[in-house]
Amino acid sequence: MANSKFEYVRLFEQPDQLLPNTWVVVRIDGRGFTKFATKYAFEKPNDKRALELMNAAARAVMTELPDITIAYGVSDEYSFVFHKSCTLFERRASKLVSTIVSTFTGYYVHLWSAHFPDSPLSPPLPSFDGRAVCYPSIQNLRDYMSWRQVDCHINNLYNTTFWALIQLGGMGHTEAEQLLKGTYAADKNEILFSRFSINYNNEPEMYKKGSVVFRDYELVEPGTHDVAKEVEDMVEPVQQSKTQHENDKKRRAKARILVEHLDIIKDDFWDRRPWLLS
Ligand code: ATP
Ligand code: ATP
Ligand code: MG
Ligand code: MG
Ligand code: MG
Ligand code: MG
Repeated sequence: MANSKFEYVRLFEQPDQLLPNTWVVVRIDGRGFTKFATKYAFEKPNDKRALELMNAAARAVMTELPDITIAYGVSDEYSFVFHKSCTLFERRASKLVSTIVSTFTGYYVHLWSAHFPDSPLSPPLPSFDGRAVCYPSIQNLRDYMSWRQVDCHINNLYNTTFWALIQLGGMGHTEAEQLLKGTYAADKNEILFSRFSINYNNEPEMYKKGSVVFRDYELVEPGTHDVAKEVEDMVEPVQQSKTQHENDKKRRAKARILVEHLDIIKDDFWDRRPWLLS
């Protein structure tokens, strides 16, 4: 591009590179979805169609961005985790966040009619905000994921009880809110069971646990320890890691992307899928 006298304005752009070698989480959240849910008559407390639409959009985002390792969604939010080795957009926060947000929103709108065939979208159209946070250790990242899933559990138990009191118990919103004030999880389980014969454990897994999206493959062959190759890597780190990077990218692009409703707080999920955090 030719230089012009206007080009100095480029210098006003501030760097926003995220800390290297950290797990980057981009969390997006539906803007004003309380209102949006009312407009499209989402079933309370959980509209299955809306959650499946979120999952489908997240799956599409992961398909388009192989650098994403895992994603977790609940309600109107989704967290996308970029591998700590990710160098996409030179790790510029604004680029990563805006790409996730617009890709997700694009698919949410595109896939809307398949999930809500009887309610065409009309303005104001759905939109999402987004932010990026770096987590330096696997423990921090696991704690982040646990935090979101605990949040899902607490909210869902509350909402399930709240809406049972209203829909099955004939209570008003304020009355139900008053009754639940200061109650513990055990109390809510008891209300559900004794008043409505609902065993919370039997509620759908998607509502209780949220949705985990991940690639079903093994990135690193287990049990291979090639000393010669390790030395080679040290001698020519850039070239070698580039080839490795390309190979990983190809395998990632081919991998099956699963959406499941599993416990991601306990070790089991991660122990069984060592490639996710390696
Ligand atoms: P903000 O713009 O600040 O995020 P918000 O109204 O979106 O405001 P949230 O805290 O994000 O507030 O809450 C999401 C809202 O969307 C909640 O009211 C929740 O009940 C509703 N919602 C999202 N997904 C569903 C769903 N699948 N079924 C029923 N309600 C849903
Ligand atoms: P990046 O992802 O880095 O932005 P890019 O391919 O989008 O890559 P840009 O520098 O943004 O690169 O350039 C936009 C491209 O889209 C150019 O190739 C431009 O010719 C093409 N393009 C955009 N709008 C139009 C248009 N209205 N008519 C024809 N070509 C267009
Ligand atoms: Mg918000
Ligand atoms: Mg929201
Ligand atoms: Mg939300
Ligand atoms: Mg462009």
